[in-house]
Amino acid sequence: MDLRSGHPFWLLKNGLLADYPSLKHDESCEVAVIGGGITGALVAYHLTREGVETVLVDTRDIGAGSTAASTALLQYEIDTELHELIGTVGEAHAVRSYRLGLEAIETVERLSIELKDDCGFERKTSLYLASRKSDVTKLRKEYDTRKAFGFHVEYLEAKDIESRASFTAPGAILSYGDAQVDPFRLTHRLIQAAAKQGLRVYDRCEVSKVESSDGGVLLHVNPSSRIRSRRVVFATGYESQQYLKQNVGVLKSTFALISEPLDSFEGWPDRALIWESARPYFYLRTTSDNRAIAGGEDVPFATAHKSEQLIARKTKKLQRRFADMFPRLDLEVSYTWSGTFGETKDGLAYIGQTPEFPYAYFALGYGGNGITFSVIAAKIITDLHLGRPNPDVEIFRFNR
Ligand SMILES: Cc1cc2nc3c(=O)[nH]c(=O)nc-3n(C[C@H](O)[C@H](O)[C@H](O)COP(=O)(O)OP(=O)(O)OC[C@H]3O[C@@H](n4cnc5c(N)ncnc54)[C@H](O)[C@@H]3O)c2cc1C
Repeated sequence: MDLRSGHPFWLLKNGLLADYPSLKHDESCEVAVIGGGITGALVAYHLTREGVETVLVDTRDIGAGSTAASTALLQYEIDTELHELIGTVGEAHAVRSYRLGLEAIETVERLSIELKDDCGFERKTSLYLASRKSDVTKLRKEYDTRKAFGFHVEYLEAKDIESRASFTAPGAILSYGDAQVDPFRLTHRLIQAAAKQGLRVYDRCEVSKVESSDGGVLLHVNPSSRIRSRRVVFATGYESQQYLKQNVGVLKSTFALISEPLDSFEGWPDRALIWESARPYFYLRTTSDNRAIAGGEDVPFATAHKSEQLIARKTKKLQRRFADMFPRLDLEVSYTWSGTFGETKDGLAYIGQTPEFPYAYFALGYGGNGITFSVIAAKIITDLHLGRPNPDVEIFRFNR
């Protein structure tokens, strides 16, 4: 599957951070992780740190799947607003999943210290704008709900927004606890650190078949190797549906651009993460080297992102949105890219085991918060594997 098109910035900025061999012999281990994106990296890092003998394989270069294309806003707020999520999955699970998002961001912050590379991690406020007047009632409800459950939020009226920003909106929620990161760098640093602790990593080799065997699994790896392991983790991103009976989500295409470094961010309060109540939403962030990233314009087809004409059209739209909001900033587009993007019916990830694959764990962080879901998945899967109780398994289980 073509997961992305165009020129994702992180690949260009970081270059080839590390090189790994392909698998040319047979391997055996306790856990085999398929996928070396941010999800596989986090899972492998956590398992290795717990002393679990782990092997990780990827058919591409490490981090070169969807992770390279991610705009990597780390938000505890998921695409489904809290008050709506409460209606879908109940108060306990909804509120807990939002709190888990906050905890996941704290984990990434801790990792960026542990790894001795900040990986572009920066704490940010989030500004969630009402896209139209008719969204204000819903936005108010969302603010009241989050406030009631103890999330640190402020409500901004149109006049408050105008006094801080060069754009306006009928209302906004300002929230605290979010962040941004360079996902490609974080993935590499996690895998490098885990490799120092014993993780064995192979890239550019595809797992062509996974079968149950002798109380464990046998992975057939192209061209002619095998990995025998007690358990397998599918951290295979948006290419995972082929392994599952349950339809876990819909795949779309989404678009992004990054600017040349800007001289100023006039009219952009605190260089916050900015998004909006419309669906699909337009969103913005900045980078530690003073660029702006704009994204959105999703279309409901998994492979539409391959069309160069469509990328060009979507880039123009993103530029226009940016210019409307920041008339005093001169946005010179540096790179544009696009990619496949998955959404689930409730906005929550699917994490854990499925009846059809008793020896497997799945870590499918579909949704706008793929990275925070990956952090949550790494914790849940590590606990499941070590037989530790984890009450959050229920929230993200299959067949919910
Ligand atoms: C444009 C864009 C913007 C985004 N913005 C955000 C954002 O702001 N915040 C956020 O949290 N998330 C965002 N996401 C989502 C986020 O990028 C993903 O959730 C995340 O990168 C998924 O990571 P992953 O490791 O699960 O998947 P991937 O990075 O795709 O890694 C899966 C890996 O599995 C490998 N693989 C698959 N099958 C096999 C096989 N059979 N054998 C061997 N290897 C295999 C692939 O080669 C791949 O490298 C965005 C996504 C896109 C495209």
